[in-house]
Amino acid sequence: MNKALRKAVIAGNWKMNKTRPEAKELIEAMKPLVADAGCEVVICVPYTNLETALSLTEGTNIKVGAENCHFEKSGAFTGEISADMLTEMGVEYVIIGHSERRQYFGETDETVNKRTKAALAAGLKPIVCVGELLWERECNITEEVVGRQIKLDFFDVSAEDMKKCVIAYEPVWAIGTGKTATTEQAEEVCAFIREKLAALYGKEVADAVSIQYGGSMNAGNAAELLAKENIDGGLIGGASLKAPDFATIVKAAG
Ligand code: PEP
Repeated sequence: MNKALRKAVIAGNWKMNKTRPEAKELIEAMKPLVADAGCEVVICVPYTNLETALSLTEGTNIKVGAENCHFEKSGAFTGEISADMLTEMGVEYVIIGHSERRQYFGETDETVNKRTKAALAAGLKPIVCVGELLWERECNITEEVVGRQIKLDFFDVSAEDMKKCVIAYEPVWAIGTGKTATTEQAEEVCAFIREKLAALYGKEVADAVSIQYGGSMNAGNAAELLAKENIDGGLIGGASLKAPDFATIVKAAG
């Protein structure tokens, strides 16, 4: 496996934070700090901030993502946003299957799979989140859980499309809790995900897919996590809301 074969992707997940003026302030602060980044820099923002983010990042190295999309193209789905609506705006990335969506909004591997395929069909790059609950880790079934998610969430996704996806390994117990997985725990599961991809799609695809770690990654622990062979980037929640912290993580990715 060769880390040089894939680009590191550092993506901020703003969750339900920032009004438009606040978003403008954060993006303006971030732009000069990440301008010379060697990795892909993405900010995934609430729908209400997409237009602001797209216009403020025009001509910069910052890419814009959404935090979810629906699997149908259009229709009677009040409150939902389709993948085509996002691509039409110029959005490039979309987070799919975040644990908060699974936990609070009833997302299942089936809907994650449908949303992933809809995002790919619309030309978006999905950042698909997988990860175990604390209870599942304690029961020693982390690989079983994550392996099942990889199989189901990417069911029927072609090898060509798989290469366009980013996978975020986010142990649910580490998200927003201040508890980070140890570098060894994070690397172990990211390596397992790559093995699983190799079994499903072959080594070439497994080598090409960027696998992020997410779960309380911050300015202090990013470098150690990102130095690991199978950790190609990060999905960053809390620390992506502070421009200097986010920029430090981006720098740590090279
Ligand atoms: C996330 O929202 O995906 C995340 C990892 O959050 P945090 O960095 O705050 O744990």
